Amino acid sequence: MEVIKISPRGYCYGVVDALQIARQVAKDPAHPRPIYILGQIVHNRHAIEELTDLGIVTLDGPDRASILEQVSSGTVIFTAHGVSPLVKSRARERGLHCIDATCPDVMVTHDLVRDLVAKGYYILYIGKKGHPEPEGVLGEEPGHISLVENEADVDALALTPEQKRKIAVSTQTTLSQWDTRRVIEYIKRRYPQAEVHIDICKATQTRQEAVVAQAKGA
Ligand code: SF4
Repeated sequence: MEVIKISPRGYCYGVVDALQIARQVAKDPAHPRPIYILGQIVHNRHAIEELTDLGIVTLDGPDRASILEQVSSGTVIFTAHGVSPLVKSRARERGLHCIDATCPDVMVTHDLVRDLVAKGYYILYIGKKGHPEPEGVLGEEPGHISLVENEADVDALALTPEQKRKIAVSTQTTLSQWDTRRVIEYIKRRYPQAEVHIDICKATQTRQEAVVAQAKGA
């Protein structure tokens, strides 16, 4: 079997920055102890072990809000995936010191969702169920946004005439651009009025395109 090294590969800039923020927090005694990180910074055992060695406790659970319930003091770091406003406000209510390592590209989607809802849109957000990024984005505007993963989810929507009037589409940053395009085309067939925003980030796009381009000659 031939192994092809695809380039670019490895951590995206959002995860690299979040790791760097976590390392700096661990080194700085000004941040209250213990230091927790809400969920895995990246699905990589070595990265989590590095943080553990620096004294950062990685907490896990079904969603960010319930993970936060495990923390009663110290510092919490939010991962690059972002968190909902509810998680941020609950952390503040608990008197926790918060460090937000949300990737700027994820923040763009949070801002977009708030902006679109303020303009009267109902949002169909294409993303993965159970993933932390949609949890944070959906938490921006509960009641004004639905998570859809595929065509069957689009069919299952029961939108009111008012919601159908102004529909916008937004996406998770880490999706397959080809699968996403397929779901968007399906949405456009059902709701031609939909305004589409594709929020797949540059790091994800270039990695996917590199795999396709560099695997061609294999
Ligand atoms: S938005 Fe892109 S760059 Fe940012 S953390 Fe997610 S995958 Fe990485």
